[in-house]
Amino acid sequence: CGIVGYVGHQAALPVVVEALRRMEYRGYDSAGVAVLDGSGGSRVEKKEGKLANLEAALASAGDDGFPGTTGIGHTRWATHGRPSDRNAHPHVSGDVAIVHNGIIENFAPLRAELEAAGVELVSDTDSEVAAHLLAREMGSGPHAGDFVASCRAVLSRLEGAFTLVFSHADHPGTLVAARRSTPLVLGVGEGEMFLGSDVAAFIEHTREAVELGQDNVVVLRAGGYEITDFAGEPTEGRPFHIDWDL
Ligand code: GLU
Repeated sequence: CGIVGYVGHQAALPVVVEALRRMEYRGYDSAGVAVLDGSGGSRVEKKEGKLANLEAALASAGDDGFPGTTGIGHTRWATHGRPSDRNAHPHVSGDVAIVHNGIIENFAPLRAELEAAGVELVSDTDSEVAAHLLAREMGSGPHAGDFVASCRAVLSRLEGAFTLVFSHADHPGTLVAARRSTPLVLGVGEGEMFLGSDVAAFIEHTREAVELGQDNVVVLRAGGYEITDFAGEPTEGRPFHIDWDL
């Protein structure tokens, strides 16, 4: 129900958790985070229930258990698969972690295709297919090793309504996000970029924002961003200044 992302110079975990707290008002049944440590590793924690459950799990993982300046977070309002730790986001496949809001309408044939290829799905969600499809695109075929092109290839296969954020542990300074029929706003800081379902996610860090249009993909790095359509053609979002207080 809520999505956040961060790429920058601060420790990502507290920024992401605070952003999730600011989006609690949207309602949710589970919450989770993934942080990329910058040297090919990543840490994921996700819990059914209130953010306090997630925070307790993070605390027991240790203070320095989640180093890194790139992170994604999610609050879930279950549509496919009951609320549980396993069905909470992020969903992981190898080095890939993704968060999804909305519904991937064609998840059943995609799931069947993955299962036929020997992929083991561990959740009951419509969302998990996106993680495995991306891992496979990154692993072989025309886009192998190309994170952004692989994300676009996955997006072109999805039907329904979705905000998706993709991360890959081997590309720790980059996030790729996309939206179709669900909201996504970019926050532009100095040497840091934010993603949120709404500006509440990042208003305490920056007041410069860009609203993403329908079927837009944004590639985020600490120093800048690039918006295209699903085919990779450059497009523009709608930049705006947040001159109100929440
Ligand atoms: N359809 C997804 C799920 O059930 C995402 C739900 C949401 O938007 O939070 O896990």
